[in-house]
Amino acid sequence: MNTLNKENIKSGIIKYLKIKYRRTLDTAKDFELFNALSLTLLEHIIDEWDNTDETYKNTKNAYYFSAEFLMGRALGNNLINLGIYDDIKEIFDELGLNLNAVEEIEEDAGLGNGGLGRLAACFMDSGATLEVPLTGYGIRYSNGLFKQEFKDGYQNEKADSWLKYGDPWSIRRDDESTIVEFADMTVKAVPYDTPIIGYKSKNINTLRLWKCEPLEEFNFDLYNSQQYSEALDLKNRADNISRVLYPNDTGRSGKILRLRQQYLLVSASLKDIIRKYKEQHGAITEEFSNFNVIQLNDTHPVLGIPELIRILVDEEKLEFDVALNICKKTFAYTNHTILAEALEKWDAELFRCLFPRILEIINIINSIFISELKSKGYNDHQINEFSIVNNFNGQVRMANLAISVGFAVNGVAKLHTDILKNSELNNWYKLYPEKFQNKTNGITPRRWLRLCNKELSNFITELLGNEDWVKDLNKLSELKKFADNNEVLEKFLQIKLTKKKQLAQFIKENEGIEIDPNSLFDIQVKRLHEYKRQFLNSLYILDLYFRLKENPNLDIPKCTFIFGAKAFPGYRRAKSIVKFTNDIANLINNDQSINGKIKVVFVKNYSVSYAEKLCPAADISKQISTAGKEASGTGNMKFMLNGAPTFGTLDGANIEIVNESGEENNFIFGLKVNDIENLRHCYNPWDYFNNNPDLRRVINTLVDGTFKDNLNNDYRDLFNSLMNEGDQYFVLADFRSLKDTEDKVFEAYKDRLAWAKKCFLNVCNAGNFSSDRTIQQYCNEIWHINKCKNTK
Ligand SMILES: *Cc1c(COP(=O)(O)O)cnc(C)c1O
Repeated sequence: MNTLNKENIKSGIIKYLKIKYRRTLDTAKDFELFNALSLTLLEHIIDEWDNTDETYKNTKNAYYFSAEFLMGRALGNNLINLGIYDDIKEIFDELGLNLNAVEEIEEDAGLGNGGLGRLAACFMDSGATLEVPLTGYGIRYSNGLFKQEFKDGYQNEKADSWLKYGDPWSIRRDDESTIVEFADMTVKAVPYDTPIIGYKSKNINTLRLWKCEPLEEFNFDLYNSQQYSEALDLKNRADNISRVLYPNDTGRSGKILRLRQQYLLVSASLKDIIRKYKEQHGAITEEFSNFNVIQLNDTHPVLGIPELIRILVDEEKLEFDVALNICKKTFAYTNHTILAEALEKWDAELFRCLFPRILEIINIINSIFISELKSKGYNDHQINEFSIVNNFNGQVRMANLAISVGFAVNGVAKLHTDILKNSELNNWYKLYPEKFQNKTNGITPRRWLRLCNKELSNFITELLGNEDWVKDLNKLSELKKFADNNEVLEKFLQIKLTKKKQLAQFIKENEGIEIDPNSLFDIQVKRLHEYKRQFLNSLYILDLYFRLKENPNLDIPKCTFIFGAKAFPGYRRAKSIVKFTNDIANLINNDQSINGKIKVVFVKNYSVSYAEKLCPAADISKQISTAGKEASGTGNMKFMLNGAPTFGTLDGANIEIVNESGEENNFIFGLKVNDIENLRHCYNPWDYFNNNPDLRRVINTLVDGTFKDNLNNDYRDLFNSLMNEGDQYFVLADFRSLKDTEDKVFEAYKDRLAWAKKCFLNVCNAGNFSSDRTIQQYCNEIWHINKCKNTK
């Protein structure tokens, strides 16, 4: 940091309070202090940011195209990465100000749904920290993922106006706006740049998000002739495109608007990349891919492929085959899920309305691809499976486009990549074995340990003698030598208790529920999906409650079960599960007769900043998806890094977590992928229902009037999903195994030090799950880009 010191930080804050708000330190509100401090820091990094841009100019750059960036808050993370958190805290203390309150006033940038968007955010942090030329391109939604509230146990959605206190960390770059053309409208994409500060590095990377605006603010002629609403209509139509993030985690919806968003993202970003390339290198040739590589985060930005061809052919006057060759060396695709409903398919008709030229180009790509397949001897049936355009219904299959043109296809955990290769995309794997790769997801240790758990971070630093682990997470394995040191384990337990007390306080303030920090915190937080099986967890807890009522002396530790999850507003069953879990919580928390032995809290509005409070406080990380369904999971890694054993199925990255930290330090249960394959054709949930009275008792509460569902038949529908629609996610089949494994947790939790050791060993073995490792693998194995240190 070139010029930062106590004096100029203080004077910076005072200056910005004055020019932005006409305030002084003694009258400033928290959000004003937040903005003033942020602007002070931004001012101090701006030269390094410019220098980083310069440094990256003559080298190969990677671009991460993603419809979602779930960034969360910026201030605390930036303070950590700049290495000045403690200094700022000191300055605030001296001034009688509360830094924590200022951090808490910041709204999350919730421009993503869940894991996929949060992964993009972690990758940005790792890219800057590893000093690699990685730029993020996305959309600056005016409204992020909805805010969640509960009413009578049901989820209500409210608009998320994350910009209400301003967005001091982004800079609007009007001068680099680009025009994006649809068949029926032409709009302006305005970039907002956010600095991504590398941890204790002079490299500052860029996240560039596009806001959609009309070409002119309003049509003066219409306005002048008093056609006010017509004049505003044009503006609204443009503004709408980047107005709101789709809260849909898998399926597709709001078709036309969503397609416009996708096209806006890729068209604006590619024009930006091409402009910069031409400034450096002149006319575009096949050399382009020696300097640019684009990672497509899922299928949402796959329109980038035909759009790049369109620009190269129509605007840059290249031959089609040259343009296609450039694409084949420039694009790589990440697959995030095997859930069928998530694979994007669009009616060609929509493409024809919005961007007919793109459809034309897709058809040409497809016919070239099909003739290749023919020359390789594939038959018509096989060819239709590969075809980018479905012959029967005319739909465009985005994954097929990405795999056929892209030079690399990666899954996000070992099991997931194996499933892609061996079943889901097996035909593609046989066609292009060389394209398939695995890149197990990761999380940034800056946000997910150094920032969110300063107590544990400081202890680790004390034990290891330095902070190198923050940049080189494998160093955590050196902690193993303390795993039998009782003094270390006691201190470790004490830190966990501190984090649990902090969470309990926050939950009391935000949810109005008191929980006991000395109880076992069993936490399941993630988007709400049937495959993630929050339902199984709820049914289990209800069963535990019934057993406790029958036998008040049941030998279990005091437990607090915590849920956090948003349900897609149009996903009825997900919302019913929210309601069911809230009803259970109500029943249990209000029953005096169990003496608070178990409590259930469904925290509202689960988000990145909430996750930062939950993960450090967990005793158990619940990761209980149906085996084969969770591609990777990253929540599991956050909990592990903060020392919670995984209670989970052998699914996604859970498998790798257990491989690293040992089966004996985790609680693995349930059907495995193979078991499910074998069971699938003969599975009958009624067998389990009839043979297990405990299970029958809890499932019956859905239809026997125990809980009321506003007469919407929501609970009847949940009952049907289990009993009359074949229980697709094997909830009944895994119930007993889950229960038996919970008993093992209760038993193991009794021995404090043995428990602490399990938790501690999870921390020691979490090194592999740093997104630094993941990004280094992308650099070496897909992008072929190098570290490029800013030394200016
Ligand atoms: C990490 C994270 C996720 C992903 O959680 P999974 O358990 O991997 O599904 C979702 N939402 C938020 C806010 C997160 O921080």
